[in-house]
Amino acid sequence: MDCIFCKIIAGEIPSKKAYEDEYILAFYDIVPAAPVHVLVIPKVHIESLNSIKPENIDYISRIMLKIPEISKDLKIANGYRVVTNIGDDGGQTVAHLHFHILGGHKLANMG
Ligand code: 5GP
Ligand code: ZN
Repeated sequence: MDCIFCKIIAGEIPSKKAYEDEYILAFYDIVPAAPVHVLVIPKVHIESLNSIKPENIDYISRIMLKIPEISKDLKIANGYRVVTNIGDDGGQTVAHLHFHILGGHKLANMG
C-alpha cells in the first residue's frame, strides 16, 4: 500500500519517534505547526476517523489513553491541543488516521 505513514511504521521512511508500542507510534511532524508537534498513529491502516469500525476501538482507546502520557514526556501536559483532520475539506493530506498533538506555547483560542 502506498501510504507514507505505513512506511514510517515499517521503518521504510525514517522518523523521530516520541513513543512506540505494539499498537501505536508517535513521531515528530516534519513541518511543525507549533513548538511541539507530534503525530500519533495506529499501527494499522485506517484512512481517517470517518473510517473507524468497532474492531478498531482498541487502537483508538489506546491512543487516547496514551496521549496524556506522551504530553507529559513532551513536557506540555499543562496545556496542548489534539486535532485530527478528516478528508480534503478537513485539511487531511495523509490518508492514515493521525492525531496531531500541538503545544509548547499558548495556542490561539478557536472559539
Ligand atoms: P494532515 O494535514 O493530514 O492532518 O497531517 C499530515 C501531517 O503529516 C502534516 O502535518 C505533515 O507535515 C506531516 N508529514 C507528512 N509527511 C511526513 C513525513 O514523511 N514525516 C513526518 N514526520 N511527518 C510528515
Ligand atoms: Zn497507512
